[in-house]
Amino acid sequence: MPVLVMKFGGTSVATLDRIRRAAKRVGVEVAKGYDVIVIVSAMSGETNKLVGFVGETSPLYDAREYDAVVSSGENVTAGLMALTLQEMDVPARSWQGWQVPLKTTSAHSAARIEEIPTDNINAKFADGMRVAVVAGFQGISPEGRITTLGRGGSDTTAVAFAAAFDAERCDIYTDVDGVYTTDPRIADKARKLDRIAFEEMLELASLGAKVLQTRSVELAMRYNVKLRVLSSFEEQSDDAGTLVCAEEEIVESNVVNGIAYSRDEAKMTLISVADRPGIAAAIFGPLSDAGVNVDMIIQNISEEGRTDMTFSCPTDQVARAEKALAEAKERGEINYHDLVADTNVAKVSAVGIGMRSQSGVAAKMFKTLSDEGVNIKVIATSEIKISVLIDRKYMELAVQSLHDAFELDKTA
Ligand code: ASP
Ligand code: MG
Repeated sequence: MPVLVMKFGGTSVATLDRIRRAAKRVGVEVAKGYDVIVIVSAMSGETNKLVGFVGETSPLYDAREYDAVVSSGENVTAGLMALTLQEMDVPARSWQGWQVPLKTTSAHSAARIEEIPTDNINAKFADGMRVAVVAGFQGISPEGRITTLGRGGSDTTAVAFAAAFDAERCDIYTDVDGVYTTDPRIADKARKLDRIAFEEMLELASLGAKVLQTRSVELAMRYNVKLRVLSSFEEQSDDAGTLVCAEEEIVESNVVNGIAYSRDEAKMTLISVADRPGIAAAIFGPLSDAGVNVDMIIQNISEEGRTDMTFSCPTDQVARAEKALAEAKERGEINYHDLVADTNVAKVSAVGIGMRSQSGVAAKMFKTLSDEGVNIKVIATSEIKISVLIDRKYMELAVQSLHDAFELDKTA
């Protein structure tokens, strides 16, 4: 029988009533003839609570025990979902990660999926089970310890199962009815997209759109998994939500398809570093070793052999970056006058695969911001995105005016 993967996020399983509503939806797909793999998150708020418990108990916690505690929220919802389905006479069974077994690396709290053997679950399907309810977000390391995949990791569990079981589709049920051109809470003209290309979704997810874990989009793109994002709160038709798919499956597309933003970006400037061959490597090597995710980089024109180097990184990595650079200075690898962190910035980005073939997007973006009197501090571009760092107080204004300028409220 064809396999369908259905993932329910925290808000979709937040109460027993909502679990019942989700189970009904699963029942509909079973009735259509699918064998269904349901991936569940923890009830909303539960994972945050568990993370809090760990931090309060042990500030420098053992990551293996963090995973043991934090993975438990999903076990509860998996069992409750299986019970709910059984009450509806749907043959269902819950599976924790280790029972599948979903094998991961041993990078606790940020593990990557290595393999999902299909034998155990397929044997149960052959035996009459119609729904396998799998606890999302968790797996088992080569050492036999429980691991977790990073916050939001249930999305990645779902896509990985869809790839492993060659599912017809992977439906991600959430509290919004799809992927929007931008955050509707910021721009009321935001429009739901019927389709979006993997590459665009990947940029939007990594630039701050929280609807899907970035890693899940990477996986979906690699294995060409048809991914659909839809609401668990509305009655659904077959073309509800947003389909995340290959570029070839999208006929008409705007040049810019989304405006993303991130409040959690900081601008770091190293003042007066020696401008010599190898200086960038000497700065960014230690940052990368320390696990700092550097995004944008600017090197100023040098004067008398010295220059300023500016980069951006997530706000919660500022302390780590400062430490790594101070240590490199201590070791004599780099020499700088001062390190200035500006955490009052935000990153705003325009994303669209149409940029590959159409010029003028950057010019239009800069003109729009300048007309609004917004000063651009740092710029970064890729083939399909342009990002700028601006004062945080202008973030909403920038998002709205760019959404207007690129006419994202209109379809192509
Ligand atoms: N419950 C986990 C989290 O809140 C995983 C997930 O829901 O995707 O991060
Ligand atoms: Mg999520």
